[in-house]
Amino acid sequence: MTNRITLPSDQDATGRTFGPEELEAVRQCLATGTLTSTKGNFVKQLETKFAAKIGAKFAYACSSGTAAVHCAIAALDTEPGDEIITTSITDMGAITPIIYQGAIPVFCDVDPHTYNVTAESIAKVISPKTKGIVVTHLFGNPCDMGPIMELANRHGIPVIEDCAQSFLTTYNDQYVGTFGAVGTFSLQQGKHITTGEGGIVTTNDPALARRIYLFINKAWGYGDAKPDHYFIAPNYRMSELLGAVAVAQLDKLDAVVESRVRTAAALTTELSGLPGIETPVITENSVHTFWKYCLRVDETVIPGGTVALGAALKDYGILCAPRYIQKPAFECIVIKDQVTFGTSRWPFTLARPEATDYSRCHFEGTWNALEHVLVLPWNEKYTDEHIQYLSTNIRNAVMSLTAKVAVG
Ligand SMILES: *Cc1c(COP(=O)(O)O)cnc(C)c1O
Repeated sequence: MTNRITLPSDQDATGRTFGPEELEAVRQCLATGTLTSTKGNFVKQLETKFAAKIGAKFAYACSSGTAAVHCAIAALDTEPGDEIITTSITDMGAITPIIYQGAIPVFCDVDPHTYNVTAESIAKVISPKTKGIVVTHLFGNPCDMGPIMELANRHGIPVIEDCAQSFLTTYNDQYVGTFGAVGTFSLQQGKHITTGEGGIVTTNDPALARRIYLFINKAWGYGDAKPDHYFIAPNYRMSELLGAVAVAQLDKLDAVVESRVRTAAALTTELSGLPGIETPVITENSVHTFWKYCLRVDETVIPGGTVALGAALKDYGILCAPRYIQKPAFECIVIKDQVTFGTSRWPFTLARPEATDYSRCHFEGTWNALEHVLVLPWNEKYTDEHIQYLSTNIRNAVMSLTAKVAVG
């Protein structure tokens, strides 16, 4: 028997890194009396430091990860009915911006062991109308960017990297968010570093940078000789208060990532050889920064699979998520029933029938991934004791579930 303990949670102070640094930054910010980023310095500091940190030429802060993806899509300046390829396993915040821009999200299958899109799965859905590819580095593990960039470059299609779950993730020693045309990050409560809500967009391309900057700012040409509102755009600015918190959080990012990687490796070692359990498959030549730690559960070995194991772990207070988002993104009402603007169904009315064909046969990897994945909560406050608690309870749960079959 193990005594029940409560794991640190990224939803409150137990699993987050806020301290005197954030307090002091907020105090300084308030003392200036300037809380808008159009006049203040904290958001600018965040942008400069973040760009330098990951090796991008430009970074712009905005109000959420969803806003960041929206900036990226808007920067591509697509025509209504153009297609943007995206993954079937992601946050809805990565999909609705495509629709807001009048483009069609075209879903792509994933590898059931990494949960990521691949060059092969993307190639299957490229059409003459494809104007962008969003790749999501899910759970902190990078997509295999070599073949993906080779494919995209061959077709001349810009790649947007959704890095909301992959701060400081590297592929061939290069940070994700710097391979494609645009990278997007989220500072939401549960991400590696946080301001509660917030986002960052990165690019190396000056023309895209200009459009991203304008899109965040109602497309108002600040500083231009004859400024105007140049195109349709929201106010997606981050406030200085959040910028202050973000600057302090960014200073802690290395330690956050280091801790997550270390404890994840420790759990992998502990679980090795456990029947019916596949520990995370890490893309070659990369660093997985463990936003979450996923197990792939084989239901032919562990009766009831991920759902049964998840239920057993919840009895020990381990708030895991069997099946992650439960169903592929295209099964959500907004996409399935095309609930967009009034009763118009626009822009789906412009879509080729193949672009909205969500038949199961095109998404074998996606369904397979969701049927097997068990997502463990993860954060930088985990200690060796927490890892021991997780591994002991996972082992016990697996043993008791498999023992039931043995007995009959
Ligand atoms: C969290 C997340 C988003 C959206 O970010 P918000 O800040 O919640 O709007 C987008 N994509 C992925 C992969 C995410 O995990």
